[in-house]
Amino acid sequence: MPRAFLCDFDGTVSPSDIGAAFARRFSPEGEAESPAFLARWMSGEMGHRDLTAAQCALLRVTREEALDFTRGFGLDPHFAPFARAAEAQGDAVAVVSEGFDFYVRDLLERAGLGDLPWSANTLRFDTGAVTPEFPPASDGCGRCGNCKGGHARRWRARGFEVVLVGDGLSDRCGARAADRVLARRDLLAWCRREGLAVTPFQDFADVARVALAAAAGPPRAAGSALGGALGGASGGEA
Ligand SMILES: [Mg+2]
Ligand SMILES: [Zn+2]
Repeated sequence: MPRAFLCDFDGTVSPSDIGAAFARRFSPEGEAESPAFLARWMSGEMGHRDLTAAQCALLRVTREEALDFTRGFGLDPHFAPFARAAEAQGDAVAVVSEGFDFYVRDLLERAGLGDLPWSANTLRFDTGAVTPEFPPASDGCGRCGNCKGGHARRWRARGFEVVLVGDGLSDRCGARAADRVLARRDLLAWCRREGLAVTPFQDFADVARVALAAAAGPPRAAGSALGGALGGASGGEA
């Protein structure tokens, strides 16, 4: 069965969380990324859709200023080679982001990856203010802006085994719905707390090794082999 690698953008395809840096840079005193502001989302009380709307209400930025800022960031240098190798063996690679379209599109195009499928929330710029728009999705959880759980279910319905690659709490719906999860940072800790099977990764060189190993055998056996390759750090095999 072909695999679909659904890759989070901020903190994953891009090693930096560009969305967070953007919200910090263009809100008064960085308030939109302050721990107090994020607390209700971190606790699960507020969904990411409402968090994004609340953050955007604080931002003052034009499209030109926004692109100027986000062009200071780059992608994991291993991502493009991974994507091309995965596609060459018949797998799919898609970027699924809870961030914004303007920088996801720009950074992918500048990396020569403008042809990869991607989805994100839309940010509308209007004379210094910004408003988010969320992709319509009847199969999402209703709390995310661009629910990765909905994407995972759609790729599976198309006949793919879904591998979610991510680093953060906005990947939770995707991780629950995926057949397999590769995680680092907050997502890794969350998967372990929840008892979800998860394979740790450091960067897309690791993800590429998973893709090649998966092509050579069934997921569970491949997972064990990779656990060894990554120093036995694979945890939470449910
Ligand atoms: Mg992330
Ligand atoms: Zn969701």
